Amino acid sequence: MLPSNLWREIPQRYRLEAVFCPKCSTTYFPPRELCTECGSRELEKKKLPTKGKLVTYTVIHTPPKGFELYTPYIVGLVRLEDGTHITAQITDADPNKLDLDVDVEAVIRKVKENGREGPIYYGYKFRPILNANGAPERKC
Ligand SMILES: [Zn+2]
Repeated sequence: MLPSNLWREIPQRYRLEAVFCPKCSTTYFPPRELCTECGSRELEKKKLPTKGKLVTYTVIHTPPKGFELYTPYIVGLVRLEDGTHITAQITDADPNKLDLDVDVEAVIRKVKENGREGPIYYGYKFRPILNANGAPERKC
């Protein structure tokens, strides 16, 4: 990814910024220009909640180019508190012990670095919220 692309994506990468269609109440993440539900172009910026539940996940053993150093890693589908679904990397979790439906929260983590001299990219990931016993939080 080029730094110019990175710069443009900063709001969504660091602040979980989405857009919301006031006409039909659809939320889009990543943000887009046009509501595909009702055709409106009058979308408003919306900050997404940083907490949600893990709906499903997969463990990546064969990554896309540039992510070879990070395998295995977990990519999950998270349902945020407002109902928006987003795909994100799941961190601070053991792929063999990860339960569905655990509560997760967004954290900023290193996503990728381009060699020793290259830029280091940060972005959001989600991690399980642990209770006082160190076990994943799970509300019914
Ligand atoms: Zn709409």
